[in-house]
Amino acid sequence: MSDRREWLIQWLRDAHAMEQQAETMLNAQLGRLENYPELRQRIEQHVEETKGQAERLRAILDNRADGSSAIKDASGKLMAMAQSFSGVFAGDEVMKGSLASYTFEHMEIASYRILIAAAEQLGEGDIVRACEENLREELAMADWLKDHIGPTTRTFLARSEAGSDAAKR
Ligand code: MG
Ligand code: FE
Repeated sequence: MSDRREWLIQWLRDAHAMEQQAETMLNAQLGRLENYPELRQRIEQHVEETKGQAERLRAILDNRADGSSAIKDASGKLMAMAQSFSGVFAGDEVMKGSLASYTFEHMEIASYRILIAAAEQLGEGDIVRACEENLREELAMADWLKDHIGPTTRTFLARSEAGSDAAKR
């Protein structure tokens, strides 16, 4: 087995762990988001997309003939949890969540660009296509967050100034 192929498989496992971490982080945000319905709805949609992404990666890894598919467990789960709770006591949960989400989507985008480049070189068309599908969803989510981060910030600040408890989440 070539080194290149080993790297590709390693990165696919990393991406699978990343998607598990994403699901944990998004669900942690949903658990507390109450007064930002648009944001809530988009995150709910992305949780479903995220599950599908993990499934695509799992299918690729499970289909490997040499039995080396072993999925990494999501050791990042706790970290994701801690990260997304960092705004709980600061009174700006929605903003900390927006920051974490926007950052995370860009890490996912970079991961899939790397995977696509590696898979293309190895002529792994199925892997390229699966990663392109995941990439499209990450780009759409990043784009949505980009468009909504300004309005969310203004809503947060206006509510906060009005002393509304609805501001923080
Ligand atoms: Mg994802
Ligand atoms: Fe994502």
